[in-house]
Amino acid sequence: MAGFQEPLAKRPKIEGYCRFNSKSTHIPIQQSPVRNVNGYFGNKQHSSNIPVPKSINTPQGKANGSGGIHSNRNTDHLKNLFKQRSALPIFPARSRLLEELKKSDVVIVIGETGSGKTTQIPQYLHEERWDRKGTICITQPRRVAAITIAKRVAEEMNTNLGGLVGYSVRFEELVSQSTKLKYVTDGMLLREAISDPLLSKYSWIILDEAHERTISTDVLFGIVKGAQKSRKIVAGDPLKVIVMSATMDVDHFSNYFNKCPVLYIEGRQHPVEMFYAREKQEDYILATMSTVFQIHKEAPPQHDILVFLTGQEEIDSVTHSIRQIAKDSSLQEYPKLRVYPLYAALPALQQLDVFRETASGERKIIISTNIAETSVTIPGIRYVVDSGRAKIRTYIPGSGFDVLKVKKISQAQAWQRTGRAGRETSGCCYRAYTLNEFNAMTVNPVPEILRSNLASVILQLVAVGIKNILTFDFIDKPSALHVQQAVEHLSLLGAITLRSETLELTETGKKMAQFPIDPRYAKIILSGPEYGCTDEILTIVAVLSSESIYINPSGKKDVAANTRRKFTSVEGDHITMLKIFRAFKASKENKVWAHENYLNHRNLMYAIAVRKQLVQVCQRCDISIVSCQQNFDSVRRCIVAGLFTNVAELQFGGKYITLDTKQEATLHPTSVLFGGKPAYVLFSELVVTGKTYMHINSVVDAQWLYEVAPEYFRKRHIKR
Ligand code: ADP
Ligand code: MG
Repeated sequence: MAGFQEPLAKRPKIEGYCRFNSKSTHIPIQQSPVRNVNGYFGNKQHSSNIPVPKSINTPQGKANGSGGIHSNRNTDHLKNLFKQRSALPIFPARSRLLEELKKSDVVIVIGETGSGKTTQIPQYLHEERWDRKGTICITQPRRVAAITIAKRVAEEMNTNLGGLVGYSVRFEELVSQSTKLKYVTDGMLLREAISDPLLSKYSWIILDEAHERTISTDVLFGIVKGAQKSRKIVAGDPLKVIVMSATMDVDHFSNYFNKCPVLYIEGRQHPVEMFYAREKQEDYILATMSTVFQIHKEAPPQHDILVFLTGQEEIDSVTHSIRQIAKDSSLQEYPKLRVYPLYAALPALQQLDVFRETASGERKIIISTNIAETSVTIPGIRYVVDSGRAKIRTYIPGSGFDVLKVKKISQAQAWQRTGRAGRETSGCCYRAYTLNEFNAMTVNPVPEILRSNLASVILQLVAVGIKNILTFDFIDKPSALHVQQAVEHLSLLGAITLRSETLELTETGKKMAQFPIDPRYAKIILSGPEYGCTDEILTIVAVLSSESIYINPSGKKDVAANTRRKFTSVEGDHITMLKIFRAFKASKENKVWAHENYLNHRNLMYAIAVRKQLVQVCQRCDISIVSCQQNFDSVRRCIVAGLFTNVAELQFGGKYITLDTKQEATLHPTSVLFGGKPAYVLFSELVVTGKTYMHINSVVDAQWLYEVAPEYFRKRHIKR
């Protein structure tokens, strides 16, 4: 079979799995009738003759681990990079691709993950100098991807990051006047559209990973489409658009973009042998772990395993457990294990670990979120173990908030995961769920816009000048009810007013739209001067915007909690965070101090950087930064001003019920309020993992709720 390189000598026999019908499975890519089924292009002969680089070195990791700026002038290294570039599946298709891009204003490009779309297409455009009139902007749904890809491309182009190649993600930017290739998160481009709806800085906009269908990408589709039309008519200054993805519902997209052409890059997908669980698994974590060890006992060394699980906490814990089990004497006869976690919030340096080549006699196991589905390509993978789940942001109807829930993935995602096993040679995929369960999964993931809180996006749309949300050209329109609920929430926050069918931003709303954060948190900052505590609020919002500042090593959780007890405030987690931040500043941002107190130095430093940015926005919006020193009551009152929809009430019997949606919720064990029973608790987030947990909580007073939103609470009849 073409592309079949090296059959696995020995197939691990894993208990509890059954092989899927045929011996091997080709990963389906949805074909579009726009081109016939054989409409692949790329020189097959040529591409299959070029050896795929077996390992990918990441010299930037070694030379300049902290990221930042690097320029590598080592010619051998450059030659090697060029060789790698020319070996990518997209390389032989370069001229055909450019030809098509020249002809059409919008083109959809589909190609397997790792074929070179994100790193190469922008370089091809630059090599042709098609960026003379404006920058090439490439959007990514994830900040990690935007940063690591920009680094990689700068390296391939042998320039300093922040020069010709730059990136812009929330709270972090590295661009200059000379930047021509700009990797941005979709959220950042959306924000830019507020001040420049025609996106006039750009000559090309590449909407990447379109299948992810984040809210921001979905809205960008409409904005970019509109900008393209306006620029053609008004300015005569064309905007070219490329929509890229590894997999997607191409017809839907092509129809949306006026039946634009769809191009397929021939990938190098090798056959993957499929296995399904024979029986439904009660505990998917246990099922995936036991599969990993069974494979480990059977597979030759350097046959690496990629495991798909859901979230940071779960992944850290499974990584730890696998490392512990690997120490067992019964496993010493098998290859040495290197186990790495992979999730978006992982420090960049640690993320590079997953790209390292596996030494002989060893095996690499990567435990990842859905980030490894399409966003990053990991070399060496022969086995995929798929839990069939992901943490998915889901909106609770009737409320103003989203929850992160572990949910079944879609079939399209399952195929993407499977595909990771066949990147370099043939491989195996173990699905820790039955074929029936697979068949019951939805075909494509539900776009985020149909399942999330729309408040933030509506605020931005109104700020861009779109006043009637329901007439906006959405690729998939959110329901009128969802829109109405978000509009109500925004008007409760005082951000918008409705005048004869059209939405207008209030003065508060205009300021809120300036902040790159959830409108509720923007409202809290704007309320700072009124409560005399902008300074404290900025700190709290900055800490909430970063990853957890706590370190809780397993086995030492109690020691960590006891050490941090001196910062604990009976008023709750928000004030505790404030006290920690102040103590950290007093220690002069000392690393040793952070370490001794079981605090994450990097995340605290990140919070400091975020805070600086928020201060700048305050200065731009003329918001005075005042401090209440130790008067923490006013800080909590101020938080209520934005988060009054996130409150739960204590019931007889000790349970909490949320006031908004009347659902049962529990204080999370990591909360300083855990074990206490305050009558009213304000929570930052609800997380559903089995139970519904309230995360990051503060004690609040019923009276404050009435003061902030009297109408809203009168309807909810709380006891005063
Ligand atoms: P696509 O967008 O089609 O999924 P990319 O352009 O992102 O593909 O990646 C093409 C190839 O470039 C990958 O297969 C990998 O070999 C290499 N590559 C991309 N990013 C990195 C990185 N950060 N470090 C090392 N290699 C990378
Ligand atoms: Mg890509």
